[in-house]
Amino acid sequence: MIVLTSLVVTLVVGCVGSLSSQDSFPKLGIPIDCNVGKDCFIMHYVDREPTPEAVDFGCGRQTYDEHKGTDFAISDLKAVQEGVSVLAAAEGTVLRVRDGVPDELIDSVEERQTVAERECGNGIVIDHGKGWETQYCHLRNGSVTVKPGMKIDKGTVLGMVGSSGLASFPHVHLTVRHQQTVIDPFGGVANTSGCDMDQKNSLWDESLTYTPTGLIRAGFAATPPTQTELWSGKYKDTQLPKNIPALLFWVHAYGVLQEDVEKWQLTSPTGEIVLNLENILDKSYRSWVGYSGTRKIMSGIWQGKYELWRGNKLIFEIKRDVTVL
Ligand SMILES: [Zn+2]
Repeated sequence: MIVLTSLVVTLVVGCVGSLSSQDSFPKLGIPIDCNVGKDCFIMHYVDREPTPEAVDFGCGRQTYDEHKGTDFAISDLKAVQEGVSVLAAAEGTVLRVRDGVPDELIDSVEERQTVAERECGNGIVIDHGKGWETQYCHLRNGSVTVKPGMKIDKGTVLGMVGSSGLASFPHVHLTVRHQQTVIDPFGGVANTSGCDMDQKNSLWDESLTYTPTGLIRAGFAATPPTQTELWSGKYKDTQLPKNIPALLFWVHAYGVLQEDVEKWQLTSPTGEIVLNLENILDKSYRSWVGYSGTRKIMSGIWQGKYELWRGNKLIFEIKRDVTVL
């Protein structure tokens, strides 16, 4: 009986201890003015593995070694120009600000060196009290609207999403820290490493569906598109001229895994399936562009169909049309 009582007391104390440090922090709103899963998506999560192996909170691969934040991506640089607001995840006081770093899409080692010491690009750090901070990175050049010392509410516009600093795609990176330790908002203070943990300690004020693999976009082109071209907003054509060298149906996806199976199909304007093939991915890619096509081009409406399979599970499928004139 005595043993049982002391056990209960221990449990209660342990519980209150972890709750109080977490409760002292207001729940986080998402740091971007968009509908996650519709017009923006989470591209990378916090790396929860101290070794060079990179693992996200869902035990997936959608992170990289020492990635300290959550990356909310938008479609391309055209969306950057139209403007998507970066929002304060909670109320607090602005600690530090940087602006004036150009928006670029970094895709080589040489380009990486040009942003050394300012990888965050245009950024903001907010102090939320009791040792809590949030940091926002890669904002659009010239868009930062707050200054150090300013008191701000949750949801205050801090600036616009961009691709300044070490960014290969347009997004806002959010780092959460408590007592200078990086905290994964999906795990909270109770879960600082490892994966497959209890999500009841999530810091988000809404439930965000874990989607480690998804479609970014698809379309047609005359030449193979690069990731950087797609992120910059090229290849949105719905019409192509007949005199192109090849008609390529392309798909841009995130979080594809080794041994995923792609099923490609291309149907000509006469309804003939001119291409029907499967491709097994040789390795995992956090961001992936695949394409398939034909050189025998005729005028009319072509249809591309793509499916991504993992074992016997269809992860996503997409159909796209293009008119060849
Ligand atoms: Zn990031």
